[in-house]
Amino acid sequence: MRKRLSLKCCLFGIGIPLTLWMTLNLVSWDMKLSADWNQPQRLTLRARKTLLLRSKVKAQAEEKGAPRQCEEIPEVINKALVKHYNTSVLHSLGIVSGPEDQIARDEGYQNFAFNALVSDKIGFHRAVPDTRYPKCQDVTFPAINLDTSIIVCFFNEQPSALLRLVHSIIDRTPQELVKEIILVDDSSTLDDLSCQIENYVNQHFNNVRLVRTPERQGLIRARVFGANLASGQVLVFLDSHCEVNTDWLEPLLLRISHDPTTVVVPVIDIINHDTMEYQQSPLVRGGFNWGLHFSWDRLPDNEKNDPDLGSKPILSPTMAGGLFAMKRDYFHHLGEYDLGMDIWGGENLEISFRIWMCGGKLEIIPCSRVGHIFRKRRPYGNPKGRDTFLKNSLRVANVWMDKYKEYFLKQRPQAQVVDYGDISDRISLRKHLSCKSFKWYLDHVYPELSLPGDVKPSNKSSHHQPMKSKDKRKKPVIVRHGRIKHVSTNLCAQSEKEIYTKKALVTLARCNDESLSGQKAQLWFETEKNQLMLAQLLCLDIETGSVGKSYARLMKCHGLGGSQGWLWIKKNGASLLYNPVSGKCLTATATKVGGYLSLDLCTGAKEQAFTMS
Ligand code: UDP
Ligand code: MN
Repeated sequence: MRKRLSLKCCLFGIGIPLTLWMTLNLVSWDMKLSADWNQPQRLTLRARKTLLLRSKVKAQAEEKGAPRQCEEIPEVINKALVKHYNTSVLHSLGIVSGPEDQIARDEGYQNFAFNALVSDKIGFHRAVPDTRYPKCQDVTFPAINLDTSIIVCFFNEQPSALLRLVHSIIDRTPQELVKEIILVDDSSTLDDLSCQIENYVNQHFNNVRLVRTPERQGLIRARVFGANLASGQVLVFLDSHCEVNTDWLEPLLLRISHDPTTVVVPVIDIINHDTMEYQQSPLVRGGFNWGLHFSWDRLPDNEKNDPDLGSKPILSPTMAGGLFAMKRDYFHHLGEYDLGMDIWGGENLEISFRIWMCGGKLEIIPCSRVGHIFRKRRPYGNPKGRDTFLKNSLRVANVWMDKYKEYFLKQRPQAQVVDYGDISDRISLRKHLSCKSFKWYLDHVYPELSLPGDVKPSNKSSHHQPMKSKDKRKKPVIVRHGRIKHVSTNLCAQSEKEIYTKKALVTLARCNDESLSGQKAQLWFETEKNQLMLAQLLCLDIETGSVGKSYARLMKCHGLGGSQGWLWIKKNGASLLYNPVSGKCLTATATKVGGYLSLDLCTGAKEQAFTMS
């Protein structure tokens, strides 16, 4: 009896009101759509949702409430780095000097996948090396009659990285060219951080607007969301962890002013995610493979041998994605982005194919340089846990690639079963714009791409950041050699095994007699790239990814710094061997023969004092 009663209760008490509420909601949502915009009924659900989103954005942008309550973010300026770019200062900022630093560093890697400790210590302004080729420098630009809306979307971005970008734009761009900077917070979940960013922006800038999407959109819809609020003649999109370089905007705008259907991309310089070092990128262009993965390709010979290389625009089959500029009306004319794409991936190839196939052009402008933090992983997931890159790529293949989509499906067979949603809007767009075929694109824009089965040599780099292809093969340049001596014990560092055994740990041993010829077991060679090579064979490396202590060991030299980069620093009068990537110093775990060497906080204690002689 009681059971039946409670069941009835449930039905009437919750079930009926719930159904009523849902029906009312659906009706009112539908009414809202048709009343507000008087849209014809044939609009797809997605298109209608987009419209709803746009209206919400407008309403939100107009509403200015009281500042949100959160801790104020102090304006951090590291004077040593404002005027001159200095790598040794940068390296010293990475030193982990106590548990607080360690926590900041660990949480930073967790949330942002780069070294947030260093980013915070750099502060909101810093000099970066001018990476342009000499021909681009010291030029005077003619008057430019275009202004821009710079759109930066972000999801859970580190405040100092984002604010350094905004300051770099303000510091290095003529005021009249920047109508506004629009920061689109894509519903970040780290509330404190977005609140701090919002308050800082409201207090410090007057042409920077911060808007928030009503719910997480992903970078594709978030960009369109920002673009729909923009009023500048040119839209410039940037990732939220970039720093712009000297005179970055003028060359982009000049090119667009000559030809409004050209979409332009700066050279994307590399900001190292561990050290925040700013590095020049080589001149390469955008390509892709049949799995629809973006690639950096070597320039074709005619471009490479052009005497104006380095200052002349480079035609590019595709763009990397986050950084580009195009006329605002052209962006809308060309169909913005595919709003059916989620979170991340594929949109860069979609817009690249569309630009070329529908009458535009895509160029890299070498005189424009913007640094980007290239991370090893993306620190965020997506709400539904799906592989959005695969889904988005399927949309690209089905809308743009004609029969060539079969190659994609062969490369990524798991795509066969993925639901990629409705693409009818994009197919009509392609018709409406009278776009050319994918075959035309391959023949005229990217003839270098070989079809599966062809045996053309590859011109692609497998790295996700642009890289000189011969970098790894160069012979290391030795700057000095000698024994690494642990000062307080007078013991020497050597391998626990043979000098050529990979993964062998490094221990302290009695020093060999210097006069003995052919003694290589304790002979270390320091290279220009800050490697320490034992007997010129293997490099001093650290175990990474392990919990707890990381030990020093010997590994094949990779020449990329990172776990094999060693700098001599001074602390409390002692000289220590510092590894910038870990922020830690080489330490003897036991000050006796056989004691292993590990990595620890740089304190300057006697376990860490070494010399090389
Ligand atoms: N982003 C966003 N919403 C998302 C995912 C990413 O606004 O759901 C932003 C992100 O903060 C960054 C930009 O889109 O500014 C590009 O993403 P990301 O840097 O992760 O891409 P990557 O450079 O790794 O390809
Ligand atoms: Mn990025």
